[in-house]
Amino acid sequence: MEAVVSVLVALSSICLLNRDITTYAAPAEIGDSQWKLIERSGWCARPPKDRATFAGAAPFIIIHHSYKPGMALSESDCQLAMQQIQDFHMDERHWSDIGYSFAICGDGNVYEGRGANVVAAHAPHYNNRSIGLLLIGDFTEALPPSSMLEVALDFIQFSVDCGFLREDYILYGHRQVRNGTICPGDALYAAIQKWPHWQEDVEDIAYL
Ligand SMILES: [Zn+2]
Repeated sequence: MEAVVSVLVALSSICLLNRDITTYAAPAEIGDSQWKLIERSGWCARPPKDRATFAGAAPFIIIHHSYKPGMALSESDCQLAMQQIQDFHMDERHWSDIGYSFAICGDGNVYEGRGANVVAAHAPHYNNRSIGLLLIGDFTEALPPSSMLEVALDFIQFSVDCGFLREDYILYGHRQVRNGTICPGDALYAAIQKWPHWQEDVEDIAYL
């Protein structure tokens, strides 16, 4: 009996989420793959210049690739990639913070960008009702390694379990909701069309 209780406690702690300060219980080990959720302090993120939140579980998740920087494999290279993306978004594009909500990196971990329930800058009209999920690398011609794809799928389920993505979420590739981009790359875009909840038709956002 004691063993059963301790297992239940361990499972429930996976999704501990404090919405005020956005902390997650980590490492997360769900599904078939094991990954850590590396919070902003773990990749030495700069503080945001501004920050707005939205309430409730997001109805959409939108998949991106970084194109540049390319694939990173070690934890230190992944931290550097996150810093480079944040610097580019804040210093060149003059955004308040890194544009994406979360990123999957080639070290097999998930990196917190703006985080859950924070208005992001990755897809106009969807920034206050979506998770912007980045896969770090150029996936125009080659797919991410299968381990990265598994972590992405695990993380999507984790987001539902934690209550920051709706159970009946809709998944899009960036190119579906933004003209003039080929993001998330042809290879990755072909792959996500087989993922749960991918939808070909784009909802008329005005009526949501
Ligand atoms: Zn994109």
